[in-house]
Amino acid sequence: MNILEAIKKGENVLKEKGIKSHKLDSEILMSKIFNKNRIDVILNFDMNLSINEIKIFNNLIEERSKRKPIAYLLGKKEFWKYEFDVTEDVLIPRPDTETVVEQVLKFTKNKSKLKILEIGVGSGCILLSILKERKGFYGTGIDIYKKTLDICKSNIKKLELNDRVKLFKSDVDNFNYGKYDLIVSNPPYIKKFKLKYLDKDIYDYEPISALDGGVDGLLKIKKVVYNSSKLIKKGGILILEIGFDQMDKVKNVLINNGYYIKNVIKDLAKNNRCIISTKN
Ligand code: GLN
Repeated sequence: MNILEAIKKGENVLKEKGIKSHKLDSEILMSKIFNKNRIDVILNFDMNLSINEIKIFNNLIEERSKRKPIAYLLGKKEFWKYEFDVTEDVLIPRPDTETVVEQVLKFTKNKSKLKILEIGVGSGCILLSILKERKGFYGTGIDIYKKTLDICKSNIKKLELNDRVKLFKSDVDNFNYGKYDLIVSNPPYIKKFKLKYLDKDIYDYEPISALDGGVDGLLKIKKVVYNSSKLIKKGGILILEIGFDQMDKVKNVLINNGYYIKNVIKDLAKNNRCIISTKN
């Protein structure tokens, strides 16, 4: 069987299972077999596959047909300007989250040395993208899972940021190390009862702990806001990713905790996604 025939076969399997991106997914999974990009695969359509290659490809198609996200099948995801390692222990970086990186860069344009904390660092996509853009900044990332921090560590190494990042395995309630110029977080903010209505790709595979915002969706946001008060420097900035319908509620949480709202920014789909505040 050649590459084209295998891709077509894979495509049909995915199509039958109702996967919309069946053609693209089949091509991408084929590219994983050769560790090449999609275009190289398309340019070699008539190349024959070995029995073993066909077997590996069919297994990938099978997993995708059960809705395992492409990022987990490839073990990586593009975000900002980089490629991040991902496993099922971290949330897959979302394009909407690039809005948060953009805002941090905007609010730190003229700064040369800052200490940044990310609460719930996950893959590290936010913190590490910022550090790559700002050579004088130092980053601290905390998360409660060792496996999550292991992935973040491998991304730190890949992006050659070892000298400028520290990681701690800690819940933010118990974290009391240092004061920061800027704190950033994309906490879990989906209402508990809504979790089961998420795409099967998300609900069955992504870490629910990174999505579950408790009964009202605000539990973890509140926790980040309260705890940031003890960790933020005077005049420091807090930048949060929030759910599309949470702006008013999060504004109140911030104001009630002594923060001043600086701006609310919409994501690519024009939903309120990022809220920037300061604390004196
Ligand atoms: N934006 C994510 C989603 O829709 C949720 C991320 C989060 O809860 N922080 O799946």
